[in-house]
Amino acid sequence: MGAALNETHDPNLQSWIASANEPDSGFPIQNLPFAVFRPDETASFRPGVAIGDRILDLQALADLRPFYGLAARALEACKGQRLNALMALSSAHWSALRLELSRALRLGSAMADRLQPLLSAQSDAQFDLPARIGDYTDFYISIHHASAVGSLFRPDNPLLPNYKWVPIGYHGRASSISVSGSDFARPCGQTKPAGNPGPPQVGPSQRLDYELELGAFIGTGNPMGRRIRIEDAESHVFGLCLLNDWSARDLQAWEYQPLGPFLAKNFATTISPWLVSMEALTPFRCPFARASGDPSPLPYLSSTDNDSSGSIDIELEVWITTQRSREADEQPFLLGRSNFRHAYWTLAQLVTHHTVNGCNLQPGDLLGTGTLSGPGAGQEGSLLELTLGGKQAVQLPWGEQRLFLEDFDEITLKAVCRKAGYPSISFGGCSARVLPPLPLTSTER
Ligand code: MN
Repeated sequence: MGAALNETHDPNLQSWIASANEPDSGFPIQNLPFAVFRPDETASFRPGVAIGDRILDLQALADLRPFYGLAARALEACKGQRLNALMALSSAHWSALRLELSRALRLGSAMADRLQPLLSAQSDAQFDLPARIGDYTDFYISIHHASAVGSLFRPDNPLLPNYKWVPIGYHGRASSISVSGSDFARPCGQTKPAGNPGPPQVGPSQRLDYELELGAFIGTGNPMGRRIRIEDAESHVFGLCLLNDWSARDLQAWEYQPLGPFLAKNFATTISPWLVSMEALTPFRCPFARASGDPSPLPYLSSTDNDSSGSIDIELEVWITTQRSREADEQPFLLGRSNFRHAYWTLAQLVTHHTVNGCNLQPGDLLGTGTLSGPGAGQEGSLLELTLGGKQAVQLPWGEQRLFLEDFDEITLKAVCRKAGYPSISFGGCSARVLPPLPLTSTER
């Protein structure tokens, strides 16, 4: 499962870029996540890698032809405006590039003088989607979220009988996925409040919510008709990002049966710009475990590696600011804190299950995990859970309260991997703000 530890994971490695060596940098030389960025508004977008508070321009680095072999081939694939060409290669290519970047950015590297001019400040950079996303699938792998939401939508029957056997998912929409910082208008749609005997109405959603998720970008694809075995599954994953699956709960409640989420989900999805590689996450692997009494996964979703290290210890957080809190200079408020290791299914199981029928995945496809709520109080990954279905308001320390999101609310997702004796690995942030809806005209209402 994934790569073994190697010299790029040495906790003692330091970079000649001083900010990477700060204890809480989040982007130490052991991380090296990829993004698509431009150093300023006049430049074109290009791939880059984070080191400390800087970004190394990989397009410009490719022009120097500094590497050989697989790493050279991988760097050559960074000459475009997206990461799809690099994703399409193989995990051996990504690993070779990571090793050469680690060596080039290390303290004492002979390349420091040549690389210095290729660095720019993260704080000045603008980001774009890391890849052209062909298809987007969203799963539902937190049993804690599924149980909590199920009990709100179906009090008599919260967890459907398939949940513990099949990784539940739906096909989402790729066109409305944006990178962090892209604000969006509150969606309009059909709603029909429970117990209201009249016809449904159309208008702005009154129950707009966030969902705390991770996204997994597929690297190498599979030909149609050819399954990806669980032993090979992670070598097809290029990297992970944060993902906010904005959800209109009132639209969802009315439309979701019998075919699942549709317009309640596809108006906006926000992802973080940085993709943390599976290799960077190796030190944070942990066993895949289920409560005793729960069924073991079917054989095609099971392997010894998946049992021993299929999960990943990734701390997740959701923060909110509002128009009022920003005007008053209040600190953001923490709405929830969870961990990816609480998930009921692993990334390898998702990839394998997605292809068990012969479905082909392609470089740049995106898999969402589903809301990653944890088992305890304070670990809710959505307002739906936090407010018990919109019944119990969350008190914000600056004197406001929320059942669901209001216009100009901003949600920020964060993720970090921590381990004693090892530098922390950050995913950066994933933020976006809710804007007022585009009003419906009198003939549309
Ligand atoms: Mn979701």
